[in-house]
Amino acid sequence: MGNESKLRIVVIGGVAAGMSAASQAKRRMPEAEVIVLERGPFISYGACGMPYNIEDPTRAMDDLIVLTPDVARERRGIDVRTCHEVLAIDADSKTVRYRTSSAEGAEEQKLSYDRLIIATGARAVVPPIPGADLPGVFLLRDLEDGFAIKNYVKERGVREAIIVGGGYIGLEMADGLRGRGVDVRIIEMLDQVAAGFSDGPAKIAAAELERQGVALSLGTRVEAIEAAEGGSLRVRTNKGAFEAPLVLLSIGVRPNRELAAEAGVAIGPTGAIAVDATQRTNLEDVFAAGDCAEALHRVTGGPTYIPLGTTANKQGKIAGANAAGAQERFEGIVGTAAFKVFQIELARTGLGLKEATRAGFSAFESVSEHSTRGHGYPGGGRLHTTLIVEHGTGKLLGAQLAGDEGAAARVNVYAAALASSATVYELANYDLAYAPPFAPVYDPILIAATVAQKDLARGG
Ligand code: FAD
Repeated sequence: MGNESKLRIVVIGGVAAGMSAASQAKRRMPEAEVIVLERGPFISYGACGMPYNIEDPTRAMDDLIVLTPDVARERRGIDVRTCHEVLAIDADSKTVRYRTSSAEGAEEQKLSYDRLIIATGARAVVPPIPGADLPGVFLLRDLEDGFAIKNYVKERGVREAIIVGGGYIGLEMADGLRGRGVDVRIIEMLDQVAAGFSDGPAKIAAAELERQGVALSLGTRVEAIEAAEGGSLRVRTNKGAFEAPLVLLSIGVRPNRELAAEAGVAIGPTGAIAVDATQRTNLEDVFAAGDCAEALHRVTGGPTYIPLGTTANKQGKIAGANAAGAQERFEGIVGTAAFKVFQIELARTGLGLKEATRAGFSAFESVSEHSTRGHGYPGGGRLHTTLIVEHGTGKLLGAQLAGDEGAAARVNVYAAALASSATVYELANYDLAYAPPFAPVYDPILIAATVAQKDLARGG
């Protein structure tokens, strides 16, 4: 044991999964010594809020910090050590080797553990192209990235930006930067924005981006970034070159798994750390949670890698509880996510058609569109729904929504339906609320399920 009789739980990483784990472990076992080693200067912040914070010049970026190390120590009894980078895990001697960095220099030390929780998260993918490291080229992953972008926009008086990657972070940042009066171009290798969404919702998102003055270069591959006149940057693509002083690379994330893998922790088929339902890895007394780990997909029944804060918090909580002796299980995810593109909401849960086919389902897409409020009630708009349905059985496999309002709220009904393996026949009979300000008498969910039934009757 770490300190005579006290159980020592060491957590690597101090954001969503790590701090959830540490807090839960301390709550379950107040007498345990809980130590968080975080390589960065910040812990426990809401990365998800960064695009909206960057949009608002009056807000400080550290508004996003939920907990400081001092507060974590004083109020929660967690020994948080920032600027502590773990370099290696030795599972045989149950120790970690870490490096501290301070103004006085760097120093390496060892720390023993009884239970270890790996919550090292993920990192933004940097494309292997020349110029990706030039000044003015940014990633948006941790709070320091957020500070850097916000300062750069302010200090340079940035008026144009290029965003490489049209996934949800790229789209949220297009919205945020336009809100600051910046002209934005999105360069995306695929022929659609919002990868993973079907054609219908992706086109709605693209139309909204263009309506808001965002230039789209779809089906375009970035080949190099180089310095241009007047401190600007030139992004060379297979379809010509574009210039702006700020380039944001947002082409996806990879799990930070190397530390774990080098210690003998098994990596799963998705490339992230393999865990069981109790968040245990293959090594005794070693747990993993959050963006570094896989999760069980409740629709396919297999492992998946969908790195989201909602999952990181829940997995962290379960890892922390179990490290402190509980027997809790994480029942898995269905991949529910929602985001805003200017005035449009996009949301999805479950499998897309390609994913369903890859997972061995014989499936089809059923498309419907409906108003979001009661007949004659002012305001509201349209909601486009794509259901992914299994041929024959009518089992719901996924849902994607895009529209003026209500997508993010309604996707949760589909998420619940997926968790209970509902069919579209069952979905069509759900007792959903009706009042003109919120929904038509037949909610778009009931309409979508009814349309899917008709599609099934026609053979899907
Ligand atoms: P991380 O947040 O990556 O934290 C891991 C920590 O571990 C890092 O601080 C890192 O420094 C530390 N670490 C790594 N290696 C070591 C080491 N060797 N030693 C010590 N420390 C180490 N999710 C949603 O659900 N909804 C959203 O709307 C949403 N929006 C987002 C918007 C943006 C711009 C971004 C960037 C992310 C968004 N996410 C969203 C994703 C969400 O932020 C992540 O899923 C979540 O932060 C994952 O938490 P984590 O603790 O697993 O990993």
